[in-house]
Amino acid sequence: MPTSASRSAPSFLPQTALNELVALLRSQGYTVIAPTVEAGVITYAPITTGQQIARGLIDYQDGGSYRLSATEEPELQFQYVVGANGPKRFLFPPTQRLYEFRAEKGGFVQEGGPPPAPKLAFLGVRPCDLAAMRVQDRVFSEEEGRTAGCLAGAFYTEARRQAMVIAVNCTRPSGTCFCASMGTGPEASEGFDLALTEQRGGFVVTVGSEKGGKLLEGLPGRKASAAEQELAELKLARAREHMGRHLDRSGLKEVLDRAVDHPRWDEVAQRCLSCGNCTMVCPTCFCSTVSDSSTLDQGPVTRTRYWESCFTHQFSYTTAGPVRNTIRGRYRHWLRHKLCTWFDQFGCSGCVGCGRCITWCPVGIDLTVEAQQIRQSQPPEDGGNSTREKQA
Ligand code: SF4
Ligand code: SF4
Repeated sequence: MPTSASRSAPSFLPQTALNELVALLRSQGYTVIAPTVEAGVITYAPITTGQQIARGLIDYQDGGSYRLSATEEPELQFQYVVGANGPKRFLFPPTQRLYEFRAEKGGFVQEGGPPPAPKLAFLGVRPCDLAAMRVQDRVFSEEEGRTAGCLAGAFYTEARRQAMVIAVNCTRPSGTCFCASMGTGPEASEGFDLALTEQRGGFVVTVGSEKGGKLLEGLPGRKASAAEQELAELKLARAREHMGRHLDRSGLKEVLDRAVDHPRWDEVAQRCLSCGNCTMVCPTCFCSTVSDSSTLDQGPVTRTRYWESCFTHQFSYTTAGPVRNTIRGRYRHWLRHKLCTWFDQFGCSGCVGCGRCITWCPVGIDLTVEAQQIRQSQPPEDGGNSTREKQA
């Protein structure tokens, strides 16, 4: 994981250096993961040349809507922000083999564990996803005193330890972004090796770690001029003022602590399909389930971990049946976990303001609106609500 280094004066990399950056990373044994286009959506995928990085495109995002179009500024590389997926699926894969066993001589012999951790270079990570990686470190990383025991923790820890993280600061937020409200963007503040701020002709580069500094030495950079640095600052300030969404976080945890019986949950339950999209696209969601499969002959038994969603009916199943038996209960659990009970569990917010759950909700449910509605129409503190969560 990137360790902070004392920040040197920013450098300037010409845009053409992206190709050299990809080649340099590959020569050092990294698999480079970068934004590409798949099915009309910005999608992080392995690349082998800088030419494969999505370019000349701009995204329009709103509640339940995503559209990628040609930009009027094709000379800029990163006019789009996040699509449905992000770095999460490479560190915490949606499907991962945990163990493989074979029955032999009246017992079981273990044949295989999780795959070896890959050496990944993430190129083009947005500050919200960077913040989400730090949130997931608290869940999975064995270096962070993780609180959720997970069989694949060693895979995650090693993949994170080896990873090179090259962030791209956001100079043009989308319609569903609210990282400025969450304090996670539009500028990356920590957890990166290099951070790029784009302007015509290239990138102002900030070094975030020793590893990043060494990488930069192998690239055709020069010291950024005062004008280039000032322009980068102006672009980030402008992005901060043009977020698509806003979330008032003041006292929000306390508001949601008191909102267990709020009538808004009934209203949102009328619209929510319990499809789980919001959890599948969220860069901090970490729930999983395991399933065992065996062949019909004497072949191996495989235990596989799959992403799971708190919106499925069986997710909270106990001996007495599902604890959260209604959509009202499931949506309430999800939103309160993100913005309220995550603080109790991990000491931080479970939401980084990436806006994905708004964009990819098929009916456009917007957690910033839901949270605000609850805040505005909450009964007085002594209105009879219990802070103890009642079963749905
Ligand atoms: S809750 Fe929504 S906005 Fe927040 S991090 Fe998850 S997907 Fe992004
Ligand atoms: S809030 Fe939207 S995305 Fe999430 S489960 Fe409900 S309908 Fe699906």
